Amino acid sequence: MRVSFGVEMRFIEYMPLDSAHAWDRTLMVPAAETRAAIEQTFALLPTGADDAHSTARTYRFADGAPGTVGFIAPVSSPFCGACSRLRLTADGFVRPCLFSTTEWGLLPLLRNGASDADIERFLIDVTWTKLSGHQISSPTFTQPARPMSAVGG
Ligand code: SF4
Repeated sequence: MRVSFGVEMRFIEYMPLDSAHAWDRTLMVPAAETRAAIEQTFALLPTGADDAHSTARTYRFADGAPGTVGFIAPVSSPFCGACSRLRLTADGFVRPCLFSTTEWGLLPLLRNGASDADIERFLIDVTWTKLSGHQISSPTFTQPARPMSAVGG
């Protein structure tokens, strides 16, 4: 049956952000391999519409079928160099990177009546703690204690 909805289906590589802390690189399927598997049946073409800060590289179907396919490859093809993201957790911490082992408490500022300027200064300071990349491939890489599901995906 042919899909007729214009949805974007996304595939993301298995990352060391699991709650069991059992990530194993040998179990990770690189995005290029996933794309090659799809292209055995459906030829894909780059959409050419990806923002520089986007996590996904998106493709459309060469035969004009509706919908797109996105591939997110943080392990095999890191895109940290163009990262402009901070994460705010539900319990009020700011995490400068998905893989940060340090989180910065925003909640006390908010609870204690910090001004907009104080909060702006705080966020700028947190941003300066961003590393150049996630370091997954470094032998010194340490998986953060809180998994993906606890920091907003
Ligand atoms: S710097 Fe961190 S949050 Fe940004 S793209 Fe890399 S892994 Fe993701």
